[in-house]
Amino acid sequence: MPPADKAPKTFLCDEMLKGLARWLRAAGYDTMTCNTGLSDRALLELAIREQRLLLTRDRKLLEFRHAPGNVICLRCNALDDCVDELSTLLKFDWLYRPFSRCLLCNTELIAAAENLYSRIPASSRENAQEVLYCPSCDKLYWHGSHVRRMKRMLSVWAQRQGLRED
Ligand SMILES: [Zn+2]
Repeated sequence: MPPADKAPKTFLCDEMLKGLARWLRAAGYDTMTCNTGLSDRALLELAIREQRLLLTRDRKLLEFRHAPGNVICLRCNALDDCVDELSTLLKFDWLYRPFSRCLLCNTELIAAAENLYSRIPASSRENAQEVLYCPSCDKLYWHGSHVRRMKRMLSVWAQRQGLRED
């Protein structure tokens, strides 16, 4: 396990932690998910090569010689438990860079060109202040109710983490 003062910024999540990966991206962390069918060894090698902390639920991964410092094995099932477990194990900032990455593909979002605004449903357009764009998925993100809800969740987690570290 990395020392407590070392706050990792990049992650690789295995297939089982895809849901958590989405939230790590929402918090702004560079988070890759791996394709199914990758062997445990290949997964660990990928993490090391890309200098990512491997998050997994597969205990077998801990048996590799290079696992210490590179692998974190979580026991959680529900998202909330995963968040708690991760917050206990790592120094984590759930409000690191909220909504700076695409939730689906991890690409950094850019400001959307104005001609794309027309794609936002008219009912949301009025309240959409900041519109961001994923050039890889061709997807728009705006500050609608969904993003607001997710941001609220991140704030709750950040607060909980703050209490834990006091
Ligand atoms: Zn994307």
